[in-house]
Amino acid sequence: MDFSILADAYQRIEKTSKRIEMTKYLVDLVKSTPARDLPKIVYLTQGKLYPDFAGIEIGMAEKMAVKSVSIATGLTDEEINRDLRKTGDLGLTASLELERAAPERKKPLTVDRVYKVLDEVAHTAGPGSAEKKVKLLASLLSNATPTEAKYIVRIVTGKLRLGVADMTMLDALALTYGEGPEARPLIERAYNITSDLGEVASALATKGVSKIRDFHIELGKPIRPMLAERVHAPEEAAEKLGAEFVAEYKYDGERVQVHKNGKRIMLFSRRLENITGQFPDVVALARNSIAATAAILEAEIVAMNPATGDMRPFQELMRRRRKYGVAEAAKELPASVFFFDCLYAEGRDYTGEPYPERREALARSLRIGDAVNLAQNKIVRGTDELESFFEKAVEEGCEGVVAKSTGSESIYRAGARGWLWIKYKREYRSEMTDTADLVVVGGYYGRGRRAGVYGSLLMACYDDKTDTFKSVTKLGAGLTDKDLAELPGRLSPYVLEHVSPRVDAKERPDVWFEPSLVLEIIGAEITLSPIHTCGYNRFREGSGLAIRFPRFTGRYREDKAPEDATTEEEIIEMYESRLRKVAA
Ligand code: AMP
Repeated sequence: MDFSILADAYQRIEKTSKRIEMTKYLVDLVKSTPARDLPKIVYLTQGKLYPDFAGIEIGMAEKMAVKSVSIATGLTDEEINRDLRKTGDLGLTASLELERAAPERKKPLTVDRVYKVLDEVAHTAGPGSAEKKVKLLASLLSNATPTEAKYIVRIVTGKLRLGVADMTMLDALALTYGEGPEARPLIERAYNITSDLGEVASALATKGVSKIRDFHIELGKPIRPMLAERVHAPEEAAEKLGAEFVAEYKYDGERVQVHKNGKRIMLFSRRLENITGQFPDVVALARNSIAATAAILEAEIVAMNPATGDMRPFQELMRRRRKYGVAEAAKELPASVFFFDCLYAEGRDYTGEPYPERREALARSLRIGDAVNLAQNKIVRGTDELESFFEKAVEEGCEGVVAKSTGSESIYRAGARGWLWIKYKREYRSEMTDTADLVVVGGYYGRGRRAGVYGSLLMACYDDKTDTFKSVTKLGAGLTDKDLAELPGRLSPYVLEHVSPRVDAKERPDVWFEPSLVLEIIGAEITLSPIHTCGYNRFREGSGLAIRFPRFTGRYREDKAPEDATTEEEIIEMYESRLRKVAA
């Protein structure tokens, strides 16, 4: 098939903003494409050569493409750049300059040739690769018509933005190959379980729509993730899910789909990129803890504080998204994995089964260990139970909860957002803008690197009305090695056999202290909490206030007596003032 057919179709698609018209042009294009070339045009139309999960990008810098245009047109780089400053689009510049230069074209470009050369560009690496890429692109442009050159350059530089969404492409495929309206959902399902439009297109073109039913899950191809709807109050979740449902912790990390095939582990992100290389620790955990030989499981990766075992916020996990120093980052910020779904195990596709069956299969497929967990969950009846579970989740560092239907309809709906999963996130929170001075009232023994010292401290504010200290957070972050080494000595004069009568806490630390040492901390926000006693019963029956993600600023407030610490009323005021702002 001539590449000019594709370029003409892009010309038309580019001019319309109506989806119906765009679909029609796509249908014309699909119809005029032989089966052999169909996957190629499906990928190219979205500016790709492969499905996203393959992780192969053409990725040619604009500066290099300028050199190719210069070779093909006989103009200098400066001349091309001058024109580029006017158009702002190297594709357009290439087409205008080729029109002017009118080089002699030997033979028409085919889709196959363009695809092969672009594929070579994508796979060229190592020393001398830049030059080689420039030459490859120039060889195409020298034989391209001005219109063809425009699109080739845009594809190569990642700027072909025709706006053809996956669903529009599926519409076009269904209109061409479907033999009635029932074809569309079947075709969409094939896409949802393979995430590969090219493969779906190829199957339709070569085997026909009747065979699309045979599409099945394949290890190594990510399944498009099921998504959750959102509510703002627990009542709304209960309304949608009925009298009884399951609530699960909503971990604040990165979603991962783990594929295990024998010893081989692959990790895919929510956006279906292959992120295996990013998380060597998760790969090792998955290899050792997934009991099934073949499985596809979903989980949330969460950054942990290695010393305290506490969960760290999402932003810290993002520090592990890097090209270099992957192993060091894994050491500094080790991850825990919280599994929440099983889509496939030992040859069996679980996506059509209700949530309780999938959860059972998940439990069977895993060996729970130190950093490998099943997502915490609980059957809840009514909004009060949901609210309490939610607060516990937030207290432990989660974002909220995901309420999940347990009925017979609660299948895994790949690629769909629906009411079978409902997320309820903390919203009424107060961001802390100021530091607080809190009193150390308890200590927890450290683990790992912090074995033998205190890993974290139970911190309290001061209630001047009753002259008591009320717990408000557990502090682990921001303590340097020097702080950790010194703290046992600093605190030893205050160790108590039992809790001080002036301390009001529900927590049970390993060691109690006489309230004495004051530390300055800064937290991320203040939230309701079932385990801390600061502001207890003030905003909700059975709940107090907690400072989330506290961090020691490094300042020992030896100038302050414990009675000079931040008071309970001040914390309440911080929480309320922010609420007022949210309400306004
Ligand atoms: P959102 O990203 O806000 O749309 O919320 C849905 C996301 O919550 C999913 O994509 C997962 O990454 C994440 N999540 C965390 N814990 C769970 C869980 N137990 N079940 C399902 N999703 C979860």
